[in-house]
Amino acid sequence: MRFENVLIANRGEIAVRIIRACREQNLGCVSVYSTADREALHVKFADRAVCIGPPATADSYLQMHAIIEACRQTGATAVHPGFGFLSENAEFARLCRENNIVFIGPSPECISMLGDKARAKETMKAAGVPVIPGSEGAIQSLEDAKAVAKKIGYPVLVKASAGGGGRGIRRVDSEEQLEEQLHVAQEEAKKFFGDDTVYLEKLIVGPHHVEVQIIADEYGNTVALGERDCSMQRRNQKVLEESPSPLMTPELRNAMQEAAVAAAKACGYCNAGTIEFLVDHERNFYFMEMNTRIQVEHPVTEWVTGIDLVQTQLRIAQGEPLPFTQEEIVLHGHAIECRINAENPDYNFRPSPGTIQALHLPGGMGVRIDSAIYQGYTIPPYYDSMIAKLIVHAPTRKEAIQKMRWALSEFLVDGVETNIDFQLRLLKTAAFENGTYDNAFLMQWLEQTQETKK
Ligand code: ADP
Ligand code: ADP
Ligand code: MG
Repeated sequence: MRFENVLIANRGEIAVRIIRACREQNLGCVSVYSTADREALHVKFADRAVCIGPPATADSYLQMHAIIEACRQTGATAVHPGFGFLSENAEFARLCRENNIVFIGPSPECISMLGDKARAKETMKAAGVPVIPGSEGAIQSLEDAKAVAKKIGYPVLVKASAGGGGRGIRRVDSEEQLEEQLHVAQEEAKKFFGDDTVYLEKLIVGPHHVEVQIIADEYGNTVALGERDCSMQRRNQKVLEESPSPLMTPELRNAMQEAAVAAAKACGYCNAGTIEFLVDHERNFYFMEMNTRIQVEHPVTEWVTGIDLVQTQLRIAQGEPLPFTQEEIVLHGHAIECRINAENPDYNFRPSPGTIQALHLPGGMGVRIDSAIYQGYTIPPYYDSMIAKLIVHAPTRKEAIQKMRWALSEFLVDGVETNIDFQLRLLKTAAFENGTYDNAFLMQWLEQTQETKK
């Protein structure tokens, strides 16, 4: 069943990315926007745009009923949620279903099960997917936490079951700290996710964050599309991603892809999803969580597989079967993505909203920009500070790094602070160049460079 119009319940570069996919399939597209986004590109590029409220996300981009109403007004029969906002909100997916609107993503049942990270881990364990040692489900009491931590051994992490975006994660090194950190994590979880459920996990030392992209249709076909290495993180948030992972071997990839497909099948998953794993020094891997949406870093996968993930999402949601099989997936070359943020790395990465006075975007073969900025555009202060993604592709990792360096140095933004120079410096570190960096590297490197500045 072909969609009449697709409503995009998001903003910024991902909204523009989805509009492009709709255009390529001749599907009508509708944007929604807050009063702070009147001049935004996703408003200008859509066939129609509906204002859904004031700047605060709670009053606009998170207003489920306003979005359903916008579908009705514009004859949209499907909603693409992008990432963040309502993308992992089971209630919204259910509301769409009740209103005969297709939610472009998995079922509400899948979203709620996987969004409860403690429960998701139990499901994966039962399906034979290796998980990080920890509590069985949520922590019920301090006594319970003490017993689990003692059994798995310190250091441990307290993690919010409803968590996301690196929030609600606390490290505990000894039993004396447990009560306090448990409390801090619960408070943070309540504040950000309205749910103070937490679980306990062993801290994996020096791990790599490696995630597998999967995509599944409604006929039971599930295909894995290689991995992305997202170990370059600041405060548990991704800064730069690449595919393939520098530590990958064909054996490890096979094993991780098999585990990822098993994980998706264990919950009857449909549409695009990502299984996040931690990989330790001995190349043991453990399931961490599953993200039930398109991911920020999806372009690196698109480039090494040659598959348009957003267009495939649209096709699957219209009831088509996957247009490829696992055997047909061949990975070509190397892709790297740098997240470009309007922020000041010299002042603890504080956001730098404001007007873009001058802009020059890099280009050339193997260079891709996903962004929603333009010269004269004013970046509003209310939303995420990511203003663009710069993605490069080349036959080898070495060439991809070289290309990224040059592309970053061509990227000029006047009027706001950005992390472009920071990304350039990061690319020049030995740990990145030789591909040995782990999740802790960026934070350690930041501390060192701050020390030498003093
Ligand atoms: P990805 O895993 O796709 O790289 P991120 O963790 O960077 O995603 O999150 C993508 C966007 O979604 C970011 O803007 C982040 O702040 C936001 N986000 C992620 N999880 C949540 C959540 N549970 N609640 C609200 N926003 C979230
Ligand atoms: P979120 O839902 O916020 O994305 P994740 O569970 O995916 O949370 O964890 C985010 C990041 O925190 C990981 O990429 C990793 O760097 C770190 N992390 C999470 N769990 C562990 C663990 N058990 N040991 C070591 N690092 C971890
Ligand atoms: Mg995660």
